[in-house]
Order: sequence, then C-alpha cells, then structure tokens
Amino acid sequence: MVKKAIIIGAGPAGLAAALRLKQNNGIDCIVYEIREKPATIGGAVNIPPNGVRLFNKLGVYDALNARASSASLMTIAPTDKTPIFEYDIGEACRNATGFGIWRVLRADIIEVLLAAAQHEKIPVEFGKTLTEVFETRESVKVTFEDGTEDSADILLGCDGIHSSVRKLHVDPLIEPEYSGVSNMFAILPSTALAAPSPVKPAIQMTFTSDGLFSVVPCTASGDQLYWFYSRKIEMPGDEDSRDGWEAFGQKAVQDLKMGMFDALKDVTGKWGDAIRGLISATDSVKFYPIYKMAPSCRWSTGRCILLGDAAHAMQPHLGQGTSMALEDVFLLSRLLESRPIELDEAFRRYEEIRRPRVEKISQSAAHSGNLRAKLDPSMSRTREETLAAQWRNGSRLTDYVYNILEVEL
Ligand SMILES: Cc1cc2nc3c(=O)[nH]c(=O)nc-3n(C[C@H](O)[C@H](O)[C@H](O)COP(=O)(O)OP(=O)(O)OC[C@H]3O[C@@H](n4cnc5c(N)ncnc54)[C@H](O)[C@@H]3O)c2cc1C
Repeated sequence: MVKKAIIIGAGPAGLAAALRLKQNNGIDCIVYEIREKPATIGGAVNIPPNGVRLFNKLGVYDALNARASSASLMTIAPTDKTPIFEYDIGEACRNATGFGIWRVLRADIIEVLLAAAQHEKIPVEFGKTLTEVFETRESVKVTFEDGTEDSADILLGCDGIHSSVRKLHVDPLIEPEYSGVSNMFAILPSTALAAPSPVKPAIQMTFTSDGLFSVVPCTASGDQLYWFYSRKIEMPGDEDSRDGWEAFGQKAVQDLKMGMFDALKDVTGKWGDAIRGLISATDSVKFYPIYKMAPSCRWSTGRCILLGDAAHAMQPHLGQGTSMALEDVFLLSRLLESRPIELDEAFRRYEEIRRPRVEKISQSAAHSGNLRAKLDPSMSRTREETLAAQWRNGSRLTDYVYNILEVEL
C-alpha cells in the first residue's frame, strides 16, 4: 500500500503527478524542486487533445483554457505563393476527441499547476538539490545538499532530461543524446507586427532550404506570439559540452538576423514581409540544442520510477512532450488504484503499456525533425507535401485520439 510519495521536480510531470496521486489515490505527496523559484523561462508548448483531456481530468481545464491559445487553423505556406495547405486542426481534434488543441506558455502551465497543488495543500519545496537516494525493500530515502532528508513508500523522478534521480539511482550510465536539430525561438507581443498583419491567429509554417520557420499565438487573447526556427546543426567541436553550446548558441543568435533574412530570402509577398518584420522586431532570441533519451533507458527500480522527460525526453516536433508526461502520470495512478497490486508488478505493467506508445511518438517526432535537413530549394515543396499528407491521411490525429484513461490494464 502506497501512503506517501516523494516527487523530485516541479515541472509539468511532477506537479501533475502530485495532484493526481493525491486526488485519485489518496497518496500524500511532497514535491522537491531544484530551482529557487518557479521557472519563467521557456517558450510555448503544444498541448494536443490527448493532453488537454488529462488537464481537464486534473481539474485545471478552465484555468488553462483562459490562458492558452486555441487558434484553430494550421497553414503550411510555401516560400512564394498562398498557402498550399489549410486545415482546421482545432475542429478536427474536437470532432475526434471532444477536446481542442492548445499552445500555451510553459510558465502558465507551471503557475496553474502550482496554484492547484496549493489548493490541495500539497507541499512544494524549492531550492532542494538531491544528493543521494537509498532504497530498501520497505521504503526509499532521499537526502539533499542542505543536509535535510525525507523518506516515503515511492519516489517519482520527474526531474526532466538531466534527471538526478536517473543519474544517481535508476540508470546512472545512460546519457541524453543530441538529436541533430537545434531551435531558436522568441516570444514577443503581437503588437510588434506591422498592422494590418497577414499573420493570422493560426499555426503557420514555412520550410526554407535550411529548416522550418513557424509562428503561433501562445495566449488566449493572442497578444503574445511564439516563433521558432529549427534546423539540423552539427554539434560544435568534438565534445558535447555546455560551454561549447553556450558559445555556439551566442554566435548563432548574433548571426540570427542576417542568417534568417538569408534563409528566408525566397519567402516573398506579404507573408515574407511579415516574417521579416517579426524577426526585426525581436530583441531577444533563445537558442537550444534538442536532446533526447535513448529508448534503452531504464525507467524503474523496486520503489522508484521515472516519469516524463526524465524517462523518455523526445524531440519536440510533434508537440507531445508535456502530454506524454501526463499520460505517464494517469497510467501510474490507474495501476496503483486498480487492485491490491505489488509495486514491482505495477511498474512492470506500466512499462509494458507505456513503452510502445512512447517509442512510436518519439520515432515520429524524430522523423518530423528530419524534415528540417538542408535541402535544395526545388525540393522544399516535397517537405511541405509530406507534412500536409500526414494531416490529410489522419495519421497525426490517430496519436491524438489515444486515451490513456481507457487503455486496458
Ligand atoms: C525551464 C524549461 C523550459 C522549457 N521550455 C520548453 C519549450 O519552450 N518548449 C518545449 O517544447 N519544451 C520545453 N521544456 C520541456 C517541457 O517542459 C517538457 O518536455 C515536458 O513538459 C515534460 O515535462 P517534465 O516535467 O517531464 O520535465 P521538465 O519540464 O523538464 O521539468 C523538470 C523539472 O524538474 C526540475 N529539476 C531538474 N533537476 C532537478 C533536480 N535534481 N532536483 C529537483 N528538481 C529538478 C526542473 O527545474 C523542472 O522544474 C522546458 C523545460 C524546462 C525545464
């Protein structure tokens, strides 16, 4: 019987796990977060309906819906003419699942989940650096750099791609791998755009010969826009060092405006002018290389389990990272409530159900990342068509219809 859970990491996985295990399983949860305060950095995340459904079940649908963009139209604009593909993704999602699709600031998700945790009287402690994990047959104990310690029946590692729970305890030898794709992104007020703007309240994408440019609203009112440019970039130098990336990132951002204008030189007309206007109006750009976990990563020990990015960080090109974390949480909760079940049996069944789904989404995300490879401009239409075909043939919707609440245990 699980009475208490220690959760490491107050990101979407950790906070959602605390809420669900408390609300549904009556488990006392305590969350420890390494940062001194909630992170306000980070861009906007995509929440497809398989994730929106779970936020609804957590009781935070209204709070998030009031902050998220539900912009419905998706357009793939070629470099020269009018869009080759327009699709009402929101309507398709609602028809298939009863829920739409959101783009929402990661910081807004954290704020809403923290408020819900506070309402449930779930303690969340900041500035806690994990130093050790000790596990016995009866319990699990953690210690922190400040000399404090805590014990519980289970430990959830929800501490993201560079997880300390994984490195200290569950699978110390495994390291995240660079995916080959890097992202540059910015968030800026929509007023930065020259009016009248041809940037519609939609999810808009354009392939250049070098990568993918996209711009989307990321707030309910549409007053904030999120743009990103993702492309294949070799790892700088021989080593995957943070310093190497730091210097590389600074240079990439410095060169950004010139580089982007060059990459976008074939994008003409009002749409081209709008994108260039957006980049000119951007003061601060973030650069981040995209890492992912190998599928061979171990996920659990006797009393400890990794959830979300700590277990299976994937490339963000399908916008499923947060929703995969939520699916993890809901499956674990279902398995712990389903019947008197030994923990090792629950964890075994969890992996049996979860691994095929996670691997499928992760592979599709990597495939989508490959569409960003450098190409002869004459081939860019092929990429646009490939992406459009995935929507036309319904393969993307299949992943959205998946409902972890109904999966057979
Ligand atoms: C600051 C930040 C910004 C991000 N921005 C984007 C974005 O713009 N677009 C996108 O698609 N995805 C972004 N992500 C990733 C996205 O949030 C995740 O893919 C997804 O939501 C799964 O969430 P998670 O809770 O598993 O992991 P994460 O969101 O990574 O959350 C992990 C949490 O654990 C904390 N943590 C890490 N190590 C420790 C430790 N040793 N002890 C205690 N706590 C620890 C982290 O500070 C964080 O709060 C971002 C993640 C972070 C941390």
